[in-house]
Amino acid sequence: MPEGIPIPGKTKPTEREVKRAQVGKSQDWRFPEKRFETGKDHPGIIICPRCHAISEKKRWFVDEKRYEELKNAPGVEQVVCPGCRRIEAQVYEGEVSLKSPLLIDRKDEALSLIHHTEQEARLENPIARIASIDVEGDEIHVLTTTKWLAQRIGKEFAKALGGTVSFDNPPNEKFTRVHWVRED
Ligand SMILES: [Zn+2]
Repeated sequence: MPEGIPIPGKTKPTEREVKRAQVGKSQDWRFPEKRFETGKDHPGIIICPRCHAISEKKRWFVDEKRYEELKNAPGVEQVVCPGCRRIEAQVYEGEVSLKSPLLIDRKDEALSLIHHTEQEARLENPIARIASIDVEGDEIHVLTTTKWLAQRIGKEFAKALGGTVSFDNPPNEKFTRVHWVRED
């Protein structure tokens, strides 16, 4: 048979068909819209207009100077980041309970320690955010968007003010409870 004449039913698959077969027939090989929006698979640069987080090369980070450069740059998309989305959708993964008589007199110091810990955590992971802080007498309750941030706040309190910190982290649950207590 001469070359170049396709055999019926045995035509060479196109590149797209090959790719499709590799990833599975039910899945489109292009980025699904939902994942695209989170920035995880976004190949370009996106910025969050709410918290100024930036996603470049599919990774979120915080850099205020870079945000200023990017905010009006052509080709940069504005998309609400996963951290802000979690807060909006009230998706929490951590709860911190802080309890000590010390918190009454040193409330401002305690609150700034909580905010400072969030700022530090954001540099490593912009999705790690504080969703709410409630002060009730000698207790402070904090909700966080990641388990890791809740644990970190507990540890920072133990480091700065002593007392004891414990973690209640039930297996198979995407939620952690952190307790910090100082009796005096
Ligand atoms: Zn954001």
